[in-house]
Amino acid sequence: MIWSTPVSATGPDLSDFSSEKVNQHVYVMVQDYGDAKINFAVLVGHNDVVLITTMMKEFNPHVEALIRGISDKPVGYVVSIDGDYYHYYGSRKFVEGGATLIAHKNLIPDVFDNRVLVDEPYRLDVGTEQLHAIPTRAHTLDHMMVKLDNSNVVFAGDALSFDWIVYSGPNGPDAHITALQQMLAQGDKETRFYPGNWVSQQYGSKQDVQSLIRIYSDFVSLVRTEYQQGKSAKEIAQSPAVHDLLEPLKDYHRQKPYIINYVKDVLGQSS
Ligand SMILES: [Zn+2]
Repeated sequence: MIWSTPVSATGPDLSDFSSEKVNQHVYVMVQDYGDAKINFAVLVGHNDVVLITTMMKEFNPHVEALIRGISDKPVGYVVSIDGDYYHYYGSRKFVEGGATLIAHKNLIPDVFDNRVLVDEPYRLDVGTEQLHAIPTRAHTLDHMMVKLDNSNVVFAGDALSFDWIVYSGPNGPDAHITALQQMLAQGDKETRFYPGNWVSQQYGSKQDVQSLIRIYSDFVSLVRTEYQQGKSAKEIAQSPAVHDLLEPLKDYHRQKPYIINYVKDVLGQSS
């Protein structure tokens, strides 16, 4: 796979972006953003282009320029993985330009006219690829995983991380773990699983997802056990057992001060 920074003669500065051609019709893009990098993807169909997560609104011109560097077909669909600022707020421009939004039914319902709101697995055939948008109960109330059959890739958004553990959000950790198992079941040993954000590992294998599930499940039980023993969230976040478990993860040193937020997330105490 060859990485490149796309060049644009007159358009926006694309120096924070890079693009990887996965195959003839799928490109995975990366935006450098502060300490982290954000994944998104462009799929070229027979008649139109599908944008998988629209990124931040202020980067509409950049995303548009990246698409135009690949194909001059119209953007026919934009797919939302979760409704957060980083992945979804750029959608309006594309929908107003004629794209149909494919999103979880819980995503801010009445924003656009052109939309397909999904509460069960939805399949889109664009000729070159079969796309499956599958609602899950990971991370947010409006999360979907996106699988491309022919390319054997899964875009999991913030439900996954291969550098660190995850926030389970309003569905709680048990629902999140079930969702991770559901994602795992969508893949085989060749599948690439792409998280929404990353620091050092851009994508992972089925084995990496299994290892995330194991570590996150252990973290959840540890937090619950220590809480039952009468410890506060702050005390749990300082517990040697918690640090022993998380220290092998690649982003431990950067995330260490924020472990308390993950403890509170497990205990349902986050604001
Ligand atoms: Zn998110």
